[in-house]
Amino acid sequence: MNLIYEGKAKKIYTTDREDVYLQEFKDDATAFNGVKKDKISHKGEINNFISSEIFKYLKENSIPNHFIEKVSDTEMLIKKVEIIKVEVVCRNIAAGSLVKKLGFKEGEELENPIIEFYLKSDELGDPLFTEEHIYALKLADKHDIGIIRKMTNYINTLLKKFFLQRGIKLVDFKLEFGKDKHGNILLADEISPDTCRFWDSLTNKKLDKDRFRFDLGEVEESYQEIKNRLS
Ligand code: UDP
Repeated sequence: MNLIYEGKAKKIYTTDREDVYLQEFKDDATAFNGVKKDKISHKGEINNFISSEIFKYLKENSIPNHFIEKVSDTEMLIKKVEIIKVEVVCRNIAAGSLVKKLGFKEGEELENPIIEFYLKSDELGDPLFTEEHIYALKLADKHDIGIIRKMTNYINTLLKKFFLQRGIKLVDFKLEFGKDKHGNILLADEISPDTCRFWDSLTNKKLDKDRFRFDLGEVEESYQEIKNRLS
């Protein structure tokens, strides 16, 4: 096994199968583009469990994704894809940058989900950009973005229902997509409290990375709470 990529929260290794990678979840947490750094104990294990459950649920509901199987507490096997360098954010309730940059009121329910695109680039700080920028940079074409929008809307519908049944409001989330060797677009990366905002549906208590970002306390407990509700 060779380490081929190390990101802020995950490592990717090759395996003895050409089309298969191993994705390992780390306890490291970062926020504000790497300015704030720490460890959240057991996060790797918790996020591997949560992502695995969500990828299985999405696969059962016809969303093609890179998940193959969970192979240890912190590792899953995934299909090899080439990641499209666009982070796709989908929002149901106003929070985060919608409040900070655009003046929405936190907690405001959006009449329709908002889909946004961010350039996946640590050096440039993941700026918000438009479809025209994506085409000009040749990160994806119109056909790809059409598929990605459709998949994102359907994933949002599925996940909203899935989480609401478990007493959780899906406020917003970030997705990444990749292409396999046949050119098929697959959902990739992870879906976890690192990449989603989850609020308790009765109390609106934040159960996600905002607890780490803003030093709200009970960080590990909140990640564990999401895991428990999926177990
Ligand atoms: N998000 C992410 N990775 C990023 C930026 C955002 O997973 O690099 C997620 C974030 O956790 C939230 C959603 O995308 O669920 C929207 O994030 P927002 O634009 O509000 O930015 P933030 O305030 O989180 O920086």
